Amino acid sequence: MPKLTEEMEASADGAAWTECLADERLVDAVKRGASMEEIAKLRDPAASSPQEAVERLKEGNIRFFTGKTDPHVLNMYDRRSQILAQTPFAIVLACSDSRVPVETVFDQGPGDLFVVRVAGNVAEPVTMASVEYAVQHLKSQLVMVMGHEGCGAVEAAMGPAGEGTGSDNLDQLLGLIRPAVSELPSIRDKKALMREAVVANVRLQAQQVMDNAIVRAAVEKGRLAVVGAFYEIGSGVVDFFRGEELDP
Ligand SMILES: [Zn+2]
Repeated sequence: MPKLTEEMEASADGAAWTECLADERLVDAVKRGASMEEIAKLRDPAASSPQEAVERLKEGNIRFFTGKTDPHVLNMYDRRSQILAQTPFAIVLACSDSRVPVETVFDQGPGDLFVVRVAGNVAEPVTMASVEYAVQHLKSQLVMVMGHEGCGAVEAAMGPAGEGTGSDNLDQLLGLIRPAVSELPSIRDKKALMREAVVANVRLQAQQVMDNAIVRAAVEKGRLAVVGAFYEIGSGVVDFFRGEELDP
């Protein structure tokens, strides 16, 4: 693989390349002729602790719902280094719903989030395999389970279990949500009841994430936290839950 400096010299815009590398270690590596692979390994995730990862998501969400999002323009160097490594600071288990585009809602760019999306944001073997991979092999600081306003999967799971949907796979998925919504408090307002149901499902799925041995080991070492969240489609605002708020 050619050294990055050779590519820079070949580029008419070599000086601009160095200027766009904010991290001095990266600039030094480029100057001494390090390979792209060495340079990629120097990149840290954008957050250095679980708390910082939460703050970064909160700040990104504020930019989103106030309409002040970043352009997320990747320069040539960023794109090339992303070929070799990824260091997403957070893992997000979210619903497949088209109105919940995770990177957009948190105003994050390529390489920032490791996103797992499935209807009803359920933690089951296949989705947990992706979470485990990111916890073990990437430098992610946080696992967020995010439900959302008006979740069709949660609403379907609130219906009678006996009827079935006509799809065995979908019935199986709804069966993973049903324990969360089977004993909801009596709430007359439909919108409030739906929010309660979605939050109950976030709590259940977050508990499943916490019960995973690989996740738990990372949490006990203090390098990972598990949080829950509720995304309100109408306002664009994400509410974060952790600690006692997350306990069933
Ligand atoms: Zn949904």
